[in-house]
Amino acid sequence: MKLRFSAHTLRPRHAFTLSRESIREKQTFFVELHHDGIVGRGEAAPMARFGETPASCRAALERMAEALPQRLGDPETLIRSLEVLAPHAPAARAAVDAAVMDWVGRSTGAPLFRIWGIDPSEMPPTSMTIAIDTPERVRQRAREANGFTVLKLKLGGRRDQAMVSAIREVTDAIIRGDTNEGYPDRETALREIEWLAERNVELVEQPLPADRVEDMIWLRQRSPLPLIADEAFMHARDMDNVTEAYHGINIKLVKCGGTLAAREAIAAARARGLEVMLGCTLESSLGIAAAAHLAPLADYADLDGNLLIADDPFDGHPVIDGRIVLRDAPGLGIP
Ligand code: MG
Repeated sequence: MKLRFSAHTLRPRHAFTLSRESIREKQTFFVELHHDGIVGRGEAAPMARFGETPASCRAALERMAEALPQRLGDPETLIRSLEVLAPHAPAARAAVDAAVMDWVGRSTGAPLFRIWGIDPSEMPPTSMTIAIDTPERVRQRAREANGFTVLKLKLGGRRDQAMVSAIREVTDAIIRGDTNEGYPDRETALREIEWLAERNVELVEQPLPADRVEDMIWLRQRSPLPLIADEAFMHARDMDNVTEAYHGINIKLVKCGGTLAAREAIAAARARGLEVMLGCTLESSLGIAAAAHLAPLADYADLDGNLLIADDPFDGHPVIDGRIVLRDAPGLGIP
C-alpha cells in the first residue's frame, strides 16, 4: 500500500466572514491510497479552530504514509491505528479513513452507503450557508439559493437582525443560525434566540464560547429553539460536556477523525437522546462525499462546503431540490 497526497488551495466563491474570522483561502490536501491496482481517495481540510494547521496536517499525513502496513487487512483495525499515529490531526486521519473506505468500496463495487446499510432515500435537505455581510448582499445570496429549502446564516454580530430581516424580504425558507461562539453572554443569547424563533429560524448553532458549559445549561433550559454544539463538540469523548448543555451536536469528519469515528459519535448521540447534524468546513466535493454517505443517519445536513468554493476540482454528488442525491457508484462515488 502506498499513500500519496498533494496540497491544494480552495478559494471561497464570495467573501466568507464568520463571527471570529474572515476566510480568503483554505488549504486542503487530497490523499490517494494505492493498493492492488485500485486507488482510494480522501480529503483533509484542517481547521485551525481545532488546533490543526496545514503544516501539522501535512506532517501527520507524512507520518501515516510512512507507517502504512503492506497489506490493508481489516479496514477498521487500520483506521483505529491512525489515532495513535496522528492523535491531534483529525482532518488528516479523516482523509486516510475516507481513502481506505473508498478503496474498499471500489474493490467490492459497492457504494459506501450500502456497505454501511444506510438508505440514501432518507437524505435530509442540506442547508446553503450565507456568511456575514451587508443586508443587501445577504439578500442577494438568499435569492441565489432559491433551489434550497434551508439556509444557514452566520450570526453573532451587530448586523444579525438586519440580515435576517433582509432575507425575510425575499424568502420564507427555513433559516438555521450559526453564531460560531459569537454572543457575548447568555442573556444576550437568549434575547436574540427569542427574536429569531419568531422568524422561522429552526435552530441555533454554538451561541456561546465552547467552554461556557454552565451558561449553556442555563440557556438550554430557556431557549425556544434547539441549540446545536459545534465548536464544543469534536469527538465522542466530548459527549459528557454537551449532553446537558445542548439539544444536539454537529459532527464533522474533520473534527472527529473520519467516517468510523462519526458513526460512533452518531450512535453515542442517539444513546443520549441528542439530535445529530452532519456538517463540514470549506472543502471540495471529495471531502463532502464521505460525509454525505452518512447524512441519511442525521436529523440535519449541512454539507455545502463544496458549493461555497469557486474552484472545486471534483465532480460531486448532485444536489437536487436542496438534497444531495448519492450516485449508486463504488466507494465515495466520485469519478
Ligand atoms: Mg458551526
